[in-house]
Amino acid sequence: MTHNTDRNLPLFERAKAVIPGGVNSPVRAFKAVGGTPRFIERAQGAYMWDANGQRFIDYIGSWGPMILGHGHPAVLEAVQKAALEGFSFGAPTEREIELAEAIIALVPSLEMVRLVSSGTEAGMSAIRLARGATGRSKIIKFEGCYHGHADALLVKAGSGLATFGSATSAGVPPEVVQHTVVLEYNNITQLEEAFALHGADLACVMIEPIAGNMNFVRASVPFMRRCRELCSQYGALLVFDEVMNGFRVALGGAQSVYARDIPGFEPDLTVMGKVIGGGMPLAAFGGKRAVMEQMAPLGAVYQAGTLSGNPVATACGLATLRAISQPGFFESLSASTRRLVDGLMAAAAAEGVPFSADCEGGMFGFFLLPELPSNYGQVMRSDGARFNRLFHGLLDRGVYIAPALYEAGFVSAAHTAQDIDDTIAVARDVFKTL
Ligand SMILES: *Cc1c(COP(=O)(O)O)cnc(C)c1O
Repeated sequence: MTHNTDRNLPLFERAKAVIPGGVNSPVRAFKAVGGTPRFIERAQGAYMWDANGQRFIDYIGSWGPMILGHGHPAVLEAVQKAALEGFSFGAPTEREIELAEAIIALVPSLEMVRLVSSGTEAGMSAIRLARGATGRSKIIKFEGCYHGHADALLVKAGSGLATFGSATSAGVPPEVVQHTVVLEYNNITQLEEAFALHGADLACVMIEPIAGNMNFVRASVPFMRRCRELCSQYGALLVFDEVMNGFRVALGGAQSVYARDIPGFEPDLTVMGKVIGGGMPLAAFGGKRAVMEQMAPLGAVYQAGTLSGNPVATACGLATLRAISQPGFFESLSASTRRLVDGLMAAAAAEGVPFSADCEGGMFGFFLLPELPSNYGQVMRSDGARFNRLFHGLLDRGVYIAPALYEAGFVSAAHTAQDIDDTIAVARDVFKTL
């Protein structure tokens, strides 16, 4: 690829003139890894092509939604048909019921859901509902978990448990984050101390069960069990942010994975997005009827949306959920992901690169660390410079992983064994250069 034929660079310059940083979501700018973002022209199956016509094997999958790969025929057909029937009505449609029913059928903790347009919106609304339902203000979140960019959730840990977090973004007043307690992920002692201190004022604990916004870090089973026990004991709601995990790590989401080890385990509220829209702007939050009926127009917790339950988005989501509900879908997807992770670990070991990796369903993560980390502090011990060389080495050779070491990766049903083996061979080449 010579520079005078590189179309990405002039596109990036043009974008920067009219869009802050040239992107509409910060991570796309390649700031962490350096270099020029690839402007994508089209995608099909497991592949994307950039403005230079270079092909990439795609392990981002739009950050999770493209679980079937790009341009799945059944999804495409559903979207085309829906588009012909109308883009948006601002009135209820039968397809919203069908999608709500489909989601509820797959996740036993849900009796009702409300459809919205983004994970941020769903998370923000779930917090409002938790506060409205409990009549309490305080919330617990964990360092390294991302729940969208609502003000109260853009918070990092304060200096101690009695002090509240501080905002991670300018423009968030301290008053808005004063009710947000930020704790270390997987730290049971801190969790117990925080409940002892704030338990009676806590509306909810919000958690990414398998955290995908600090690469891939599982909440341990004992930690999750303690989250559930303490929430029940103090009357706080346990809110699972399954925007990334839901319909991705298993058909029943991460909660079904924890229910294998913790009999009867259920969160009180679940926040969903990504896969349920199949690549269209669609998200949801839901829970038991008694809590969900506190939403307007039945209850006092207000929430609304012009494009909520959009007919084209619901068609896309519904077709996606139907395809992933086919018998054997998750067994096959999990086997592909496992093949990738095992192959990468073997290639790294062969080249003497410290490496650890984990996966569940169609989601994976790897670290240039000898052991899997269990919290954000440990994740951040990764060698950033080395990761960046790995990232660019893979990208130059046609393998597209997330451009930051704190992001998870995604395998789709369109990735063939050959795609995965090609990826492993490319990775081994790059490992040699690290
Ligand atoms: C992506 C994500 C969100 C935010 O969803 P958007 O649709 O980007 O607003 C929230 N929580 C988690 C766990 C996510 O991965």
